[in-house]
Amino acid sequence: MVDRNGWGADRPIPAGTSRDPPARFVEQANVFDPAIYDEFEERWPECWERAAALLSWNEEYDTVLEDEDAPFYRWFTGGTLNAAENCIDRHLEAGRKTHTAIRWEGKHGDRRTYTYRDLYVAVNEFAAALRDLGVEADDVVTIYLPMIPELPIAMLACARIGAPHSVVFAGLSADALATRMDAAGSEYLVTCDGYYRRGDAFNQKSKADNAKLALEADVRTVVVDRLGEELPHVLGEDEWDYHDRREEFSGETVDPVARDAEDMLFLMYTSGTTGDPKGVVHSTGGYLAHVAWTTRTVLDVEPADTYWCAADIGWITGHSYIVYGPLALGTTTVMYEGTPDYPDRDRLWEIVDRNAVDVFYTAPTAIRAFMKWGEEYPERHDLSSLRLLGTVGEPISPRPWDWYYTHIGGEECPIVDTWWQTETGAVTISTLPGIGEMKPGAAGPALPGIDVSVVDESGAPVDPGETGYLTLTRPWPGMLRTLYDSDGRFLEEYWMQFSDPGTGEWRYASGDTATVDEDGYVTVLGRVDDVINAAGRRLSTMEIESAITDVDGVAESAVVGRANDRGDTEIYAYVSTEGWSEAGADVREAIGANVESAIGPIAKPHEIVFTPELPKTRSGKIMRRLLEDIANDEELGDTSALRNPEIVGEIRSERSNR
Ligand code: ATP
Ligand code: MG
Repeated sequence: MVDRNGWGADRPIPAGTSRDPPARFVEQANVFDPAIYDEFEERWPECWERAAALLSWNEEYDTVLEDEDAPFYRWFTGGTLNAAENCIDRHLEAGRKTHTAIRWEGKHGDRRTYTYRDLYVAVNEFAAALRDLGVEADDVVTIYLPMIPELPIAMLACARIGAPHSVVFAGLSADALATRMDAAGSEYLVTCDGYYRRGDAFNQKSKADNAKLALEADVRTVVVDRLGEELPHVLGEDEWDYHDRREEFSGETVDPVARDAEDMLFLMYTSGTTGDPKGVVHSTGGYLAHVAWTTRTVLDVEPADTYWCAADIGWITGHSYIVYGPLALGTTTVMYEGTPDYPDRDRLWEIVDRNAVDVFYTAPTAIRAFMKWGEEYPERHDLSSLRLLGTVGEPISPRPWDWYYTHIGGEECPIVDTWWQTETGAVTISTLPGIGEMKPGAAGPALPGIDVSVVDESGAPVDPGETGYLTLTRPWPGMLRTLYDSDGRFLEEYWMQFSDPGTGEWRYASGDTATVDEDGYVTVLGRVDDVINAAGRRLSTMEIESAITDVDGVAESAVVGRANDRGDTEIYAYVSTEGWSEAGADVREAIGANVESAIGPIAKPHEIVFTPELPKTRSGKIMRRLLEDIANDEELGDTSALRNPEIVGEIRSERSNR
């Protein structure tokens, strides 16, 4: 085959043993008939009515999809609904008042349970309090809270009164908060005094205070008292205590505001692993329909389940699959405040065991950590309640996939490897767990109703196995509607590269590279930017990393380019190993050999730096930009978005010791 893109020779999909979904799972799956793919094809876009049918509408929609103004697509137009009503009120009416909505597992063994009725009361009282502060429909409310129940309560209270929320991850800096509030013109803030990070009390309010100093607008703020005596705080002008506010509006109810399907439900700034933060705008009807539908079909969630997505609500996965998807279906969603290794490395499995969790969804970065710690931790607990496992956020290579399948799923649970983005709103590529064969390393085919194409520079589809750009060729309900205040950048970032406005052919550019096989299974290789140009060849960093991670004893790796004195690019690898102290010459050699056999000598790392951990963002993604700066002895950019900023110093000293 011709190597049209110059990415390198054609290579097979990473080896892994394909598996059929376990029979025990298939028998009970929400979706098990392969005809669903044809049905969606034949009736597109009307097929998406099946997703809309999972919601309660105040006013029925007239049109499924309006595309006159493409790529500013509009879904379910004419329809009105309220997201909070869909996530709460209708479940009360359906006799599910005492069903658990949120099971919160806090730090230091704190636990709270909210029934749907409790959630109803809390959301109504807080909605009344927000209104009293002056919040009206369409005002953007910024929420800067850690993983405490007040976070989803505040989100749903906003949704109830038609005020879009903008959740800023609690770990981000004062600067980052100020930039986002300013960009969104947000004059309302919900935050807290502080929270526990590992064992320590951490001051959140001082960060919020600093952000407000940088803003011109007067910001009205509600402060949740999370730490009580442990971190006393003083309320200033225009600041209110959350608990006092709820007390004041105790027992009050607020009528849910009927929103147009296309009204903004929320705004979410992308994490910024690349470039400036983008304010991704999500709609009410299409978004909620798509997340509810995928929670049901991909994650196989049912109302009676206890479902746990171990992500942070501060990124899109938490919005869609801790809050909106599971609550729209009326299930029990677990919310975890802590870290996976505190007080011990079996913490997650202890929670699965004690709550009899049915469905568990996490990220490859976490799975690689579990693998590194060893199977003795899951073995301490009974994990037989699990029915399905999910992963999202990065490609997962076959070795951690197998580990997850065997040691967490007991070879009885299908794994869904779900590819999607902040911009797609909900899952777009994944197997349907009761239907599709699983191929470790490949996310899967496009979901029914979604159309994916891997193309070359000119937009022509590449042959199976060849590398190209991952694009979506048709609109989908959960898609972003625009970038806040920036239609131009929306067009530029996502549409102009592969579309032909003249013929009205619009194609969404995801910014990822991928291959696709004969069965339509997509293997995501990484971001377009994560390509190293070495000796005239374009090498995918993720592919090299996958070859490194598949070496026994390696837990994680990150590969970047380093410019040498002669102006060539060398491959530079950061590697963390399973037993950190044991990394020796044999591991180094095995890495070189494996990369050479998987990709070619040209991809062999020029230098390997072993480190106990890699720098990660809140969503668990490796911050390659930073590692590139370190490799090239450049000044480091903002590290405040890191989950483990201390590691940067360690890597630098490790490097200079060499
Ligand atoms: P930014 O856009 O600011 O750089 P980000 O892309 O990390 O941040 P997200 O929207 O959370 O923010 O992540 C989406 C990206 O994550 C995808 O574009 C893809 O690169 C990666 N990704 C998500 N799920 C998968 C998956 N199952 N397999 C491979 N890659 C995935
Ligand atoms: Mg992105």
